[in-house]
Amino acid sequence: SSSHQKEQQLYPHRLLKNYGGLGGKYDTRQYPAKSLCSHCGLCDTRFIHYVKDSCAFLNQHISELEYTVHGKSRALEIEDQLYFGVHLTMLAARRKQPLPGAQWSGIVTSIATRLLETGKVQGIVCVKNDETDRFKPKPILATTPEEIYASRVNKPTLSPNLSVLDTVEASGFTRIGVIGVGCQVEALRSVQSKLGLEKLYVLGTPCVDNVTRKGLDKFLRTTSSSPDTVVHYEFMQDFRVHFKHDDRVVGGSGKQWTETVPFFGLKTNQLKDIFAPSCLSCFDYVNSLADLVVGYMGAPFGWQWIVVRNNIGKEMLDLVSSQIETMPLSSSGNRFQAVQNSIPAYEKGMTLPMWIAQLLGVVIDKLGPKGLEYARFSIDSHFTRNYLYMKRKFPNILQRHVPEYARRIIEQYKLPQQ
Ligand code: FAD
Ligand code: SF4
Repeated sequence: SSSHQKEQQLYPHRLLKNYGGLGGKYDTRQYPAKSLCSHCGLCDTRFIHYVKDSCAFLNQHISELEYTVHGKSRALEIEDQLYFGVHLTMLAARRKQPLPGAQWSGIVTSIATRLLETGKVQGIVCVKNDETDRFKPKPILATTPEEIYASRVNKPTLSPNLSVLDTVEASGFTRIGVIGVGCQVEALRSVQSKLGLEKLYVLGTPCVDNVTRKGLDKFLRTTSSSPDTVVHYEFMQDFRVHFKHDDRVVGGSGKQWTETVPFFGLKTNQLKDIFAPSCLSCFDYVNSLADLVVGYMGAPFGWQWIVVRNNIGKEMLDLVSSQIETMPLSSSGNRFQAVQNSIPAYEKGMTLPMWIAQLLGVVIDKLGPKGLEYARFSIDSHFTRNYLYMKRKFPNILQRHVPEYARRIIEQYKLPQQ
């Protein structure tokens, strides 16, 4: 019927097999990027029409988009740009009064709230928890500070943030903010001109090693001593995973505690398959196409790392200048040997006895790379690992998928031939 045809034209994604949104038939649904799909959400909207050119995994085009968004592509001969992308400034910052329950000090939540309160935007795309599952992502178009606040803290699982783009379009809003990770932002930038917006603010976070909801369970069960009470975790600059626990999730009295596990004690052999193929194929750790990036890995422990990419990013950071304290970034140590050693260790799936891992954690925390050198350590180890993964699993797209900046970073290391 003609209404069926119209439906098909407008919403081809509804005709994808087993459409049921994330969670339901999630695993069997066919998305255009197939096993590489990061479920960024684009294909849950009518913008699926543009998937071939927009998807971060079907058409990696970061350098071209850098030019469109920032007015220039990163200068490969300047080390800070090679690693961290186009930027005006980078600094360390933290909220003078940390927001309770935020991932770090809550700078992302504060900026998004100010964008809304000052009327610069009419809505913010962000992601809260599903009511029934604290780690299941539920993307929303937030129109109140309360909704933004409810979205604080990382959902360490693939999240279809762009799935609300149809809602954005239907809202008629012309000024919006979007909070997102690299693959979401790459697809967003590709369809930005189709959204009919007067102004778009893109507030990004770095992102790495994301997992499906099932993979997350396996990670928590193999790594934490109390998987059911974890409410938050982060791979920190002190080479340890910090788990925050709260027993209210299992009906307890509100006891809260922190558990730390050294990276070197992770059961790598069991954990290799929990990361999503999209994240093992990603070379946009630092979210190159956001206007402002708020992470932690280039900053001293306890501080957040801010990358202001362009004037829109500066405008966003200025909104919270009275709420934060800042300081310049620093860099010390040398990452090269640690990265080179990590390559065969990961390949062999080596796991150390916990007491050795603890000891090594203490030593490397004292002597190892710090500040921006730690960020470079993390980028180098992930890019080399991901390059080997792609070379083995997706050799036919390796060439076009790996950006030139990543190639130069990887070339600094000796990789196994096979
Ligand atoms: P908050 O104020 O708590 O706000 C967090 C915001 O993130 C919320 O607005 C929410 O909408 C959004 N969000 C949560 N989960 C997702 C998701 N899955 N997809 C898209 N948006 C989401 N920083 C580093 O420097 N190095 C890393 O290796 C690193 N890895 C990360 C891995 C993941 C999976 C994620 C989501 C983030 C990662 N970050 C990393 C960023 C860092 O953990 C913090 O998110 C960031 O510093 C902001 O902290 P905050 O306290 O200001 O955030
Ligand atoms: Fe579609 Fe996003 Fe998956 Fe690519 S990653 S296929 S754009 S949902």
